[in-house]
Amino acid sequence: MIPPGPLLPIIQNAPGNFYVDHTCIDCATCRWVAPGSFKHVDGQAAVTSQPLDAAARIEALQAVLSCPTFSIHATHRDPAELKAAQAGLPRPWPTAAPGVYYCGWHSEETFGGASWLIVRPEGGNVMVDCPRFNPVLAKRIAELGGVKWLFLTHRDDVAGHQRWASHFGASRVIHEREATARQGTDASEVQLTGTGPWTLPDGGDDVQIIHTPGHTSHHLCLLSRPHEALFTGDHLCAHEEPAPGGVEEGRVEVSSQFNWYSFEKQVGGGHSLVKGRCTAAWPAFWLW
Ligand code: SF4
Repeated sequence: MIPPGPLLPIIQNAPGNFYVDHTCIDCATCRWVAPGSFKHVDGQAAVTSQPLDAAARIEALQAVLSCPTFSIHATHRDPAELKAAQAGLPRPWPTAAPGVYYCGWHSEETFGGASWLIVRPEGGNVMVDCPRFNPVLAKRIAELGGVKWLFLTHRDDVAGHQRWASHFGASRVIHEREATARQGTDASEVQLTGTGPWTLPDGGDDVQIIHTPGHTSHHLCLLSRPHEALFTGDHLCAHEEPAPGGVEEGRVEVSSQFNWYSFEKQVGGGHSLVKGRCTAAWPAFWLW
């Protein structure tokens, strides 16, 4: 039975099994996880096309799992398709070399930000920012080698850091000026000082950490050289339905709307980042 009030379907949904309710915060996640089914309508997401085949339904179920506010519903969930949707997260993501995964399972406490997993051939996998903790996701990440470094781009996207770090015995990496007692990140194992650039403490030159003040005072980005991929946190935002090669295709931008420190510094940092360092940028947020 569908509960009353905010959890009722919005009228913009196409009739059928999947629907979005009135609690959507318009984070855009569902629209790039399952772009065939979800679109932006009247200021929020709606199911504009019901998924007709198994592949599309599995994508739509991944949107259900990843919605930070549990605003997407399916009146019937095929158990096998739900299992396939869970098994498909983290989802392999197209980069210059294999090994980058989109984690899904967004958390409302990180404002719906995306989290990424970088699988490094020599071990020492990196998780960039925090997805919502879930044992199913944790098991899948363990199968990919677990997490050694939990890289926190800045203070906004850290919710759940203790649980992820404790589960995998991971070391949290954050700039010391972004670490707070209120969030518990002042207990992070690696607190960077100054303006870098830095490598991870294991010394691997495949990863470079870049100081990118602007969105917050000591925001960091992470460049994975083998993947030619830049993980930007909230320093850069992307537009919906991204394709590989975000920077080259002009799909990323600096948001003046979501800036808590200095827009001028954020714009300046953005220019330096796109000068030939990477072919793709993967942010925490998508704009619409
Ligand atoms: S994923 Fe984001 S945009 Fe989609 S229904 Fe949930 S809150 Fe709304």
